[in-house]
Amino acid sequence: MEFDLIRTHFEQPFEQLADAFPNRILRGIGDDCARLRPDDGQVMVVSTDLLESGVHFFEDASAFDIGWKSLAVNLSDLAACGAEPLGFVLGLGLPRVDGGWLSEFSRGLLSIAQQYDCPLVGGDTTSRRSGLGVSITVMGQHPASHQGFDRRHAQLADSVWITGLPGLARLGLLLESQSRGLPLVLPPFTHEALQDILSGLPNSLCDRARQALHKPVPRVQFSMAMRPIIHAALDLSDGLGGDLAHIASASRLGVELDEPALLDAWRLNMGDSMPDPAFVYALAISGGDDYELAFCAPETRADEIRWLGSRHCLQVTPIGRVCSSEGMYLRSLDGNVVTLSNASFDHFAS
Ligand code: ADP
Ligand code: MG
Repeated sequence: MEFDLIRTHFEQPFEQLADAFPNRILRGIGDDCARLRPDDGQVMVVSTDLLESGVHFFEDASAFDIGWKSLAVNLSDLAACGAEPLGFVLGLGLPRVDGGWLSEFSRGLLSIAQQYDCPLVGGDTTSRRSGLGVSITVMGQHPASHQGFDRRHAQLADSVWITGLPGLARLGLLLESQSRGLPLVLPPFTHEALQDILSGLPNSLCDRARQALHKPVPRVQFSMAMRPIIHAALDLSDGLGGDLAHIASASRLGVELDEPALLDAWRLNMGDSMPDPAFVYALAISGGDDYELAFCAPETRADEIRWLGSRHCLQVTPIGRVCSSEGMYLRSLDGNVVTLSNASFDHFAS
């Protein structure tokens, strides 16, 4: 039963993709261990993420999207290190065996795996009492000479950049919560205020926000192209406020966010349909689930960064700078600089 399931939904559909990389994947699914060989002169990097239904996706989310997102969040970690995908293993805890669900899940997973040349090389499958659990470990490589965008390597006076629209996936989460009648949470707004704001948003923005939540696009190719330019990077999974604080504390420096620049990232994209700036600011700071890149790079490289962004069809916006006093600061619309308290998503917060 378990072997049939693995063969039908994972070994067979992914066979062709693994076979396409015979020099990297020496042995895939079917043995006790997978055997991978990075290219000459490359070091291997590894990252893992655990996703649980009810925590990371709604119980009724589409199986295709769960498959896509499970690998997307891992590929986003590779992007945050400037690494190229080599392959991944899949740990699956299933409350029941549902062939239709598994084949959709496998289809979503395969579609992103093919897009990023990242074959499935092994895994483990087990039953669980309740709730789906998906754990993916992804392997990647980057040249041994490259620093991997280490969070400790931000430098004083670096510019801080982001890709895409920070907070867009958080908007998607609010919309999904609204359509399920769940409480709407985004400090400092009340549930009722959020209801009003959401009802005034254009449909096109709502569609994009839902897409950003369910099918994030990891910035792998862009980050590989940025290897010679970036000092430190991370992917935005918990909101700009908290995520950038990680770079600041690891580098023992500060990050000063520029509120007008942050809003510009949205304004340039939205034109007349720009939502209330206070709402956009709250989305971006407390965010979550964006899987966009935030990175620090020398101010002198701005033109190259913009050019590489446009080559990868990616909006890139400078939103602040690295400063000497440790912590997170905000240069607000009126020009005052204030300390930014941590407002990011915390799984264990009470
Ligand atoms: P083991 O007894 O070593 O745990 P299994 O019987 O669980 O082996 O798995 C048999 C083969 O199928 C192994 O190569 C394993 O990597 C692979 N496999 C099991 N589950 C999955 C999965 N969810 N996705 C991909 N490969 C899997
Ligand atoms: Mg096993």
